[in-house]
Amino acid sequence: MTKARPTLFTIAHMYVLACFVVFLLAYGLTIVLTSVGYHRALAHGAVQLHPLARKALVTFGPWLTGFDAKTWVVMHRNHHQYSDTSDDPHSPVNVGFRGLFKAQLDGYARTQMALVSGDPTYANLGRDLELSWPTRTGRWYVPYLLQVAVGVVVGLSFGWWIGIALLAGLMSHIVQGAIINYFGHAHGGRNFDIDDNSRNNHPAAWLVLGEGFQNNHHRYPSSARFSYRWHEVDLGFVVCRLLEAVRVLRVVDKTLMPRPG
Ligand SMILES: [Zn+2]
Ligand SMILES: [Zn+2]
Repeated sequence: MTKARPTLFTIAHMYVLACFVVFLLAYGLTIVLTSVGYHRALAHGAVQLHPLARKALVTFGPWLTGFDAKTWVVMHRNHHQYSDTSDDPHSPVNVGFRGLFKAQLDGYARTQMALVSGDPTYANLGRDLELSWPTRTGRWYVPYLLQVAVGVVVGLSFGWWIGIALLAGLMSHIVQGAIINYFGHAHGGRNFDIDDNSRNNHPAAWLVLGEGFQNNHHRYPSSARFSYRWHEVDLGFVVCRLLEAVRVLRVVDKTLMPRPG
């Protein structure tokens, strides 16, 4: 006679698995929009988005990531321009690990205020982009309120932990940013002796789709691929290739980087 399975145990496991899958999907969506969309496409032009994909990104990106595309891009271009100097908006060289979260928020808020007030120094760095409605109108917090509302509705419908998993995934950009900005500029090896403190950090690269290879990226900012040596894995570039196969984008920098082994 076969023994009946402990149903409650199985349901509990399925629920935990569902929470994990929801978190992973929201986390993945956030990092793909940020790394492939905002970073490689909009900030550096390393990949060219299909016009409809570009329109969708700048329209819905702020609602999904909480970040205005133009503000993010201008802050990032400032980061490249002043990398690890006192004018870098978020360098661990200046503020360490504990100060990084605040530096990121302050840098974003400062960039946002400068763009809304029309400060030419900042405006010149983002002439190719428009401010989104929430930022333009000073209602930058509305996307976050919407995300919380969606989390509550999902929580009420499917259980609170599912709602929390969704929200944690959508809000993970703060942690993703800190992983890149801290480990990618504080810990790890360097392939290139360039004039900043950028590093190549493998665990960070696995967690944030290749973005941990900041040293490679700062050496070749226009390259769609951030990996250089054979053992460096850039999943973000894999996503670029997959999206290129379905014509969502085109990889512009075809030269890529050599792989010396
Ligand atoms: Zn960097
Ligand atoms: Zn960059």
